Amino acid sequence: MTDSLGQRPWMTTSQVVRVFDALEAAGGAGCARYVGGCVRNALLGAPIDDVDIATTLLPDQVIAALEAAKIKAVPTGVEHGTVTAVCEGQPFEVTTLRRDVETDGRRAVVAFTSDWAEDAQRRDFTLNAIYAGRDGTLFDPTGTGVADAQARRIVFVGDAAMRVAEDHLRILRFFRFRAWYGRGEADAVAVAACAAGAAQVANLAAERVSKELLKLLAADDPRESVRLMAETGVLGVILPSAKDLSVFEGLVAIENDMLFVNDAVLRLATLLPKDEVGVAGAAERLRLSNETRDRLIAAAGKTPQIKSWMSPREARRGVYHLGAQAFADRVKLAWAASTRSAATHQWRGLLALGESWTPPAFPLTGQDVLNSGVPKGPLVGEVLREVEDWWIDHDFIDDKFSAIEKLKAVAQGMAY
Ligand code: ATP
Ligand code: MG
Repeated sequence: MTDSLGQRPWMTTSQVVRVFDALEAAGGAGCARYVGGCVRNALLGAPIDDVDIATTLLPDQVIAALEAAKIKAVPTGVEHGTVTAVCEGQPFEVTTLRRDVETDGRRAVVAFTSDWAEDAQRRDFTLNAIYAGRDGTLFDPTGTGVADAQARRIVFVGDAAMRVAEDHLRILRFFRFRAWYGRGEADAVAVAACAAGAAQVANLAAERVSKELLKLLAADDPRESVRLMAETGVLGVILPSAKDLSVFEGLVAIENDMLFVNDAVLRLATLLPKDEVGVAGAAERLRLSNETRDRLIAAAGKTPQIKSWMSPREARRGVYHLGAQAFADRVKLAWAASTRSAATHQWRGLLALGESWTPPAFPLTGQDVLNSGVPKGPLVGEVLREVEDWWIDHDFIDDKFSAIEKLKAVAQGMAY
């Protein structure tokens, strides 16, 4: 039985020490403990992203305690008991112990408490309801959190169906934690509760859904979890277009085999409609950022067609027209959809070309066209485009003199 994390490096940074000192100066030793992701990940040997703190102090007391220690206190969610302490540039969420008094599936009315076990009861999964004192001593009020974490079981705290009914976002959190930390068979009770609540996911704010979804898709291998989402009907509610998971699974396999970074947005692309209009509609419904939407639309385009056997010249043309990002995205998507594993080195070659080759700037301007005698007006653009096509056909020839010769020939051939 593990009863302490021991002193971890993240527990002794000057920021953490100052925040705990400030809280304990007001509430006494033991009034604050680590909770959530940092404790879970420390137990699992996974990297720690942010350090969340639970405390018996009330939000006003937290603010006063931090300010007395010259630490910035931002009331980021005071109605839920959360104050963000910003210490030497590092934010910490400090949340007062609470219980949920009223829930409607989307929001909760809370009451504060000084009972750690009560606070654990309102948390989502047993492995997220483990606390650690500042010296690393573990507190596991549900009694099974540490064992579940070590066995990598994602299990709801208390009655799964009730916990899902209280907050439907927990359905997506289940699949997210499953994707990141789960092993072995998924907890059958949890899966059944998620399946029963699937339709309710449609009532959640789209921003919250897509945030969870993108976090889920960023896991090293979310394939099993996404398959389970499909089986439980949850995937169909948020992404009705995701019927065939083969391209998604192909992309994850390529990213893992080739040691590419986990690209959540590109993984999402494999689950969206196949055409640009469909993608734009889905991006709107999911309230994705403009940047993400534009990237997904560009990735969905069909011309120029990407083939593993494209010549370097055709590939350069593709990079020039699409830009490096959309070109790379389309190469990876085409690769993920292909079944010819023998083409691996060709796909890699295309990606390498797209990364290493920067398209040159077209050497002529409108002024060059005017200088060649073409009158001001729409013809200038037409001539320029024709010479640009010639330049691209000649593989971006680095020779301004030839381009001007071509321009003269085009200009002479024009009837104006
Ligand atoms: P990470 O930060 O790596 O995403 P985390 O476990 O810290 O993981 P957060 O979303 O930061 O996740 O939430 C912190 C803690 O708050 C969780 O560990 C959990 O105990 C609790 N929590 C968060 N969201 C919910 C929820 N919807 N229902 C119940 N408890 C929740
Ligand atoms: Mg966290």
